[in-house]
Amino acid sequence: MSIPKTQKAVIFETNGGPLKYADIQVPKPKANELLINVKYSGVCHTDLHAWKGDWPLATKLPLVGGHEGAGVVVGMGENVVGWEIGDYAGIKWLNGSCLSCEFCNTSNESNCADADLSGYTHDGSFQQYATADAVQAARIPKGVDLAQVAPILCAGITVYKALKTANLAAGQWVAISGAGGGLGSLAIQYAKAMGYRVLGIDGGEEKGEFVKSLGAEYYVDFTKSKDVAKEIIKVTNGGPHGVINVSVSEAAISQSCQYVRSLGTVVLVGLPAGAKVTAPVFESVVKSISIRGSYVGNRADTAEAIDFFTRGLIKCPIKIAGLSELPKIYELMEQGKIIGRYVVDTSK
Ligand code: NAD
Ligand code: ZN
Repeated sequence: MSIPKTQKAVIFETNGGPLKYADIQVPKPKANELLINVKYSGVCHTDLHAWKGDWPLATKLPLVGGHEGAGVVVGMGENVVGWEIGDYAGIKWLNGSCLSCEFCNTSNESNCADADLSGYTHDGSFQQYATADAVQAARIPKGVDLAQVAPILCAGITVYKALKTANLAAGQWVAISGAGGGLGSLAIQYAKAMGYRVLGIDGGEEKGEFVKSLGAEYYVDFTKSKDVAKEIIKVTNGGPHGVINVSVSEAAISQSCQYVRSLGTVVLVGLPAGAKVTAPVFESVVKSISIRGSYVGNRADTAEAIDFFTRGLIKCPIKIAGLSELPKIYELMEQGKIIGRYVVDTSK
């Protein structure tokens, strides 16, 4: 397999600055790294945050974003074991961690203070050839459709872990706030596969049809509902046992602390810039609710989330576009107009 010297990528030099579709050098894998020929990459709302630089965590600059990359191993450093040229591999958000702190030692490596992040502190999957730590790269079974599996590498792993964090029993209600977006559309399907009853919340009729087609029993349109919390409590006969917040809305997150059922769990996943959770202390105590953050997943969560997908339980609702069209995708994302997930083809 011949590896070219240069390749196409989308790169930016300043946060919020021009997104350039340009020819850049193909990176060389370090001793512990794979070189992956990325075929497709999902476009996560996190990539938009990274480009804007609106989180209290600096990105590397210049930066190639992207952390849902699916491709083929074409090279590797001298210390890599257990991978072969031609294997399918996935680039995910967590690209490496110290592996020796308290959190890494207890398999919570995404909570490591020295975590290395694809498309954030390490050039990611919006390029044709990307490097990834061989320990953290996701193993994708041969024969899997690489465009379809791409969104699993962040959206899938994240919502699967968030559902585990909600600690629900089969038959219980889970509300997905932001159900029509990239993470939400997968959260509905994982929740169904795990045996929960799903209520989806998002805006507009088209998203409503979509959310129901994926298996949600009920849809609440936040742009039309007279009282979102009241409607949810009524439909679920007392509030959902768990809420997965994947919307990029501060108001929606605080609202979920009101309608969650007594003893229920509010899971925070979406990361609106500068947002705060507001929960009334009296009701939170009397209802004994839990509010928990959930941040991607570890290697076991990754393997399990991919396994749900390969068993046919999760279908990624993707639209495929060229990598060069990334700026347009960010615009649609900003406006909340994307239904499901965009995946970019790095050859276009
Ligand atoms: P997305 O843009 O595809 O989806 C967001 C959805 O929320 C849209 O469908 C939008 O219409 C909907 N929405 C907006 N306001 C709403 C409201 N008031 N009520 C209900 N729904 C509303 O984004 P995505 O790619 O799914 O990412 C969602 C968020 O999750 C982003 O902030 C992203 O950075 C974050 N994220 C977190 C983790 C983690 O590990 N915690 C991992 C990946 C992404
Ligand atoms: Zn992501």
